[in-house]
Amino acid sequence: MTERNWAGNLAYGAERIARPGSVDELAELVAAAGRDGRRVRALGSRHSFNRIADTEGLLVETGALPALIEVDEPARTVRVSAGLRYGELAEVLDREGWALANLASLPHISVGGAIATGTHGSGDGLGSLAAAVAALELVTADGSLLRLRRGDADFDGAVVALGALGIVTALELDIEPTYDVAQSVVEGLPLDAVLADLDAVTGLTASTSLFTTWRDPEVIEQLWLKRRADAAASDDLPPALAAMGARAATVKRHPLPDVSAEHCTDQLGVPGRWFERLPHFKLGFTPSNGDELQSEFLVPRERAVEAISAVRSLAASIAPLLQVCEIRTVAADALWLSPAYDRATVGIHFTWLPDQPGVEALLPTLQAAIAPFEARPHWGKLFDVAEAAERMPRLYPRWHDFAELRARLDPAGRFRNHLLERLGL
Ligand SMILES: Cc1cc2nc3c(=O)[nH]c(=O)nc-3n(C[C@H](O)[C@H](O)[C@H](O)COP(=O)(O)OP(=O)(O)OC[C@H]3O[C@@H](n4cnc5c(N)ncnc54)[C@H](O)[C@@H]3O)c2cc1C
Repeated sequence: MTERNWAGNLAYGAERIARPGSVDELAELVAAAGRDGRRVRALGSRHSFNRIADTEGLLVETGALPALIEVDEPARTVRVSAGLRYGELAEVLDREGWALANLASLPHISVGGAIATGTHGSGDGLGSLAAAVAALELVTADGSLLRLRRGDADFDGAVVALGALGIVTALELDIEPTYDVAQSVVEGLPLDAVLADLDAVTGLTASTSLFTTWRDPEVIEQLWLKRRADAAASDDLPPALAAMGARAATVKRHPLPDVSAEHCTDQLGVPGRWFERLPHFKLGFTPSNGDELQSEFLVPRERAVEAISAVRSLAASIAPLLQVCEIRTVAADALWLSPAYDRATVGIHFTWLPDQPGVEALLPTLQAAIAPFEARPHWGKLFDVAEAAERMPRLYPRWHDFAELRARLDPAGRFRNHLLERLGL
């Protein structure tokens, strides 16, 4: 089988990929795999860069499940099918007058897959996409449907679950009345000035992203400011940034220097719908596959300046392999395996060139440099598994509770895979 992930850097090892058209069909596939003693994994939109989704048994793709978007106005939630992509959901929600609190950088990712790995956007006051989950429905190892709601005993363990508890078929997400966002870009921030008061910079707007290529380790090349239009208006160039010598971009920018900004969401302070500004890339731009790899490490806010400084000390090794590094913030949540579990978080993300041997050779050095700052690897991106596995129980205070929940819901290990085993699950 030569079915590949979005980045094309891995071929799935599964003997078969099934695309069930109904929850009943999906449940029967899982139950049959159990009877045959085969392993099963959920496959979303294939945007992960590592083997988190893979199995040697059956992959069950969720994209053909009947699309479901049901708004419950009094509860302020929307029930959605797990295989739906955020971009598809956002357009329908907005038409009905509703919105999500945040989105990831790309709107093409499936809801179920994003939530299973704790995918996030940016914002000091905004949780990960998983933090918006109010309830979920999953097909467990024996083919039965389990419903869990916020407040239920197992809920906090079951939302960011890496596909290890079953196949999520539908989720309820918190919604709010629709809103507009204005996006602008500021260029040329001296890194030392940013690190002197990182909170002041990330707190400038509801969602803020810092970009650097590390070619010049003294500079944050771009700051993307996404301001809610219902918040107080701000200058194109906030005075604190002007004082640093930064300048407002006067033309639309791509995070990568010298790349056309055509596919980026609109900037220059022009307000637009939330889903047309919060992702960095337009929904209408559909990258079939990407010439890139990604890694990301999430550190507690109070260790972020030290962690970014440690990354800076490796700039000369990082820059030749890097397209761009993005620094984002995520509010704390209570989900056991969320990279933002129990701590306000700063994510240090790397979009690499598609040079997997080069990236894999660098990762142990990078991880050794930031491990002292309790860096949690993004579950869906490239990381040195051996290094991270050793730290998991310390990184995640509820690690053993998750292992117990996994063993209780899936005693025969139907949903386990090689990567989870290497991580100690
Ligand atoms: C271009 C690009 C941009 C990205 N941007 C961001 C970003 O802004 N922020 C960020 O945090 N991450 C980002 N990511 C990473 C991405 O969000 C995660 O890897 C995410 O898990 C991918 O979701 P997917 O639907 O493709 O899932 P897959 O890659 O197919 O699977 C990922 C995991 O989710 C599980 N899973 C999938 N569906 C289900 C289900 N229905 N039930 C149970 N488990 C399920 C799988 O078993 C697997 O363990 C980006 C990736 C790419 C390629």
